Amino acid sequence: MTATTLAEETGRKLTQAAGLNAVLHWSQTLLDVEAKRLDALAAGSLSGTSVALKDNLVTTDQPTTCASRILDGYVSPFEATAVRRLRAAGGLVAAKANLDEFAMGSSTEHSAFGRVLHPLDPSRVPGGSSGGSAALVAAGVTTTALGSETGGSVRQPASFCGVVGVKPSYGRVSRSGLVAFGSSLDCISTFGGNTRDAAQLLCAISGHDPLDATTRAEPPLAMPAARKDLRGLVVGLPREYFPADLHPGVRAGCDRAIAVLKELGADVREVSLPHTKYAVPTYYIVNPAEAAANLARFDGVRFGPRHIGPEGDVRALYRATRGAGFGAEVRRRILVGTFVLSAGYSGRYYHRAQAARRLIIDDFRKVFASGVHVLFTPTTPTPAFKAGEKTADPVQMYLADIFVCPASLAGLPALSLPVGRDEGLPIGGQLMAGDFDEATMLSAAMALEAGLDATAAVR
Ligand code: GLN
Repeated sequence: MTATTLAEETGRKLTQAAGLNAVLHWSQTLLDVEAKRLDALAAGSLSGTSVALKDNLVTTDQPTTCASRILDGYVSPFEATAVRRLRAAGGLVAAKANLDEFAMGSSTEHSAFGRVLHPLDPSRVPGGSSGGSAALVAAGVTTTALGSETGGSVRQPASFCGVVGVKPSYGRVSRSGLVAFGSSLDCISTFGGNTRDAAQLLCAISGHDPLDATTRAEPPLAMPAARKDLRGLVVGLPREYFPADLHPGVRAGCDRAIAVLKELGADVREVSLPHTKYAVPTYYIVNPAEAAANLARFDGVRFGPRHIGPEGDVRALYRATRGAGFGAEVRRRILVGTFVLSAGYSGRYYHRAQAARRLIIDDFRKVFASGVHVLFTPTTPTPAFKAGEKTADPVQMYLADIFVCPASLAGLPALSLPVGRDEGLPIGGQLMAGDFDEATMLSAAMALEAGLDATAAVR
């Protein structure tokens, strides 16, 4: 397909899918400009594919709002490294996707521009915070999408929407141009309709970047070879991720995937990650602490609209701008983050959370050092929940991240792939691997995906 045809088709699909509210910015004019640019470019690994960008990745040709009023109309003077790389590899940038404001949330209900609808059931949420990106791929509007993960924001919506979401190791992909949320956790991550598409996009954007000192001096990730079987692969099932009261549909999907792993010859064994129960409380201290620091820059002076307060001094300007610009969840994170870092309390909260994070990292290190290559778990405790179901109680919303935030705290690669359905709703299974071992994780995922496809029409 020529780039021009792809651009036209993408524009048509974006129009048809408008009801999902998955997109914050796009225009046919920009799609046509993209097509012209691609026509002049030699074919690359992403030629013929369209890519949606979560609207917390900066682009120079479209606004970047992070779904927040505080960045209304903001256009960046530079482009994110990941976006530059995917464009150079032949990808067609299709649209900027809706998200939870500043990527804070697990349902995409916290967007200042309205919630995103689940493509299979409009009464449900697509997950979050990269819900717009996930919905666009699930609805077949774009081939792939970029999202960002701080604590599961790509794997969780991938699981809810029935697509693949891949979070790389921390330091694999440059964060330059990703609006900072939790700087020790943030990872640009990819969505695809299948593992290969998501992996291909990840390969294209990976690798060292002088603009992000936390990227590792490793060559870009190469597309791993497909495996016919999984003989020799040791798969750990951490018992903490399979509680007795696990949702029956989630359990059934995971059981099927485990059966396929065994059929493919993998050596499947139970393992333990004993500090898993501390992951959610640890994450929800470290994350707001880093968020409060990062969001201090949105002061009405440097970015976005400015509100002059009644007294006309600079404090009033900060107060008026931040008061008008930030939604409830963002304010909650800033308040919690400021509190856990404050003198007299940082020992009780922030420093303890850092110590707990170390225990969680050590759990993974021990299990991978014992000869386990990948871990398999459910991605989420339930299928996609109803809109409004968890908005009144932030703790319930946070608990939706129980299986995804450990890998984020440990900086490890992890992905979600569809393993079944329950009452029509997709169920996701998660694979996690050791530090910088995306290759083992992705090749196992491709074999598992092929095995699941071959055994039944559940996907
Ligand atoms: N649900 C998590 C949070 O609200 C995930 C955020 C993310 O990964 N961007 O912090």
